[in-house]
Formats: sequence, structure tokens, C-alpha cells
Amino acid sequence: MTRQEIDRLATRRNCPRCTMDKTFGMALCRRCRYKLPPHMRTRLEHIAAKDEGMVYGALRAAANYFDLHYRSIRDFRGGRRR
Ligand SMILES: [Zn+2]
Repeated sequence: MTRQEIDRLATRRNCPRCTMDKTFGMALCRRCRYKLPPHMRTRLEHIAAKDEGMVYGALRAAANYFDLHYRSIRDFRGGRRR
């Protein structure tokens, strides 16, 4: 994941997972972030200030979590297909 991709994700106005409005600098909207355990949630906040590898890892972890707990959702960016 490149710095440019992270900046793009940080500045976009809607959530990549559910298309709800999200806050600047966050990887996901508030509602999606609050479905995650706290330690995963904080890694998806203020992503522009974080290391590329860390953000990528956090997105992967979140995608796997959602995949496991909310199997009906398939279009989450960075999600792994089974
Ligand atoms: Zn969302």
C-alpha cells in the first residue's frame, strides 16, 4: 500500500465499506469502526500519520474480521476473497 493510496483513503468522504459519510483521516466510518474490537479500531484512525505497512495490516485485519463476523459483506476494499 502506497502513501498516495493512504492519503486518498484518508481524504475520501465516504466509507469504502458501507458508503456512509466518514470523518477525514479515518479509514472507515464511525459505524464500521465501532463494529471492530478497540485495538483494531484505533489502528484505522488518523491513518495519514501512520506507517504504510501498519495501515495496510490494519485494513487486512479489519477485512478479515468483517469477513468472519459479517459474511454477507463482500466488497470491502482490501478484503481477501475465499
Ligand atoms: Zn462504513
